[in-house]
Amino acid sequence: ALSEAHAKFKGLQEGKNADYIPALAKVDANIFGIALVTTDGKVYTAGDIASQVSIQSISKVFTMAKVMEESGPEAIEKTIGVDATGMRFNSIVSIEQSQKMLGGPEMNSLVNPGAIATTSMVKGGTRAEIWNKILSYYSDFAGRPLQVNQEVFKSEAETNQRNKAIGALMYAYGYIKDNPDQATDIYTEQCSVNVNAKDLAMMAGTLANGGKNPVTGKQVMKTANVAPVLAVMARAGLYDDSGKWFYHTGLPGKSGVGGGIIAVSPGKFGI
Ligand code: GLN
Repeated sequence: ALSEAHAKFKGLQEGKNADYIPALAKVDANIFGIALVTTDGKVYTAGDIASQVSIQSISKVFTMAKVMEESGPEAIEKTIGVDATGMRFNSIVSIEQSQKMLGGPEMNSLVNPGAIATTSMVKGGTRAEIWNKILSYYSDFAGRPLQVNQEVFKSEAETNQRNKAIGALMYAYGYIKDNPDQATDIYTEQCSVNVNAKDLAMMAGTLANGGKNPVTGKQVMKTANVAPVLAVMARAGLYDDSGKWFYHTGLPGKSGVGGGIIAVSPGKFGI
């Protein structure tokens, strides 16, 4: 099935690279791989699974999971919200509409304002401590030590004025308690983590397997937190098109500028 899907879509020339982050515009648009990891640890692949691309927005899922681990799923629900905004991923209007005084929070950890605030909730005394925790958490999901794409990180850090503004506004409204610039900077770094198609499938497969990496056997997150993570993915994983995606597939997914993940849970596979 994977080979068939790969053959069917490999010639597709629709769309274009995201170019609001200059380094992303230069990525080879023909990189295309599909990987599927079953909950009993079988790995199936088609196409290019060696090339790495920055994980971008898919990272948001795993930082949200980390905060749920540290502070409980209710911390995400009460601080950020678990509702779709129905707006673009970096919408500032969505922040205005979600203000607590208007009955919020009505946002989620998968759009930029909620994601930057979620990153700010990861516990740690120093930036390095917070960062190492995030990177090693992602690595546990992938089952191998992941690294940052420094070119993408630098490029996005130089051009992320809008995300800095979002961080500042989230601080002004009290979603971020302290140091919004650090939160945006760590968020930018988490988006720059390099992954290949197999890494992403392994990360999704770990969600599908109740939080236990099906290949390494490590219990990466509490099984009880998987359903809340998938609920937010189902509701908001594809931003303002989440409804359309869910309508056609019935599966929780998460897109980023370079790809996407689907986790079929409980007990099936990640792709
Ligand atoms: N790092 C990107 C940003 O914050 C992520 C966007 C995405 O993948 N949708 O703008």
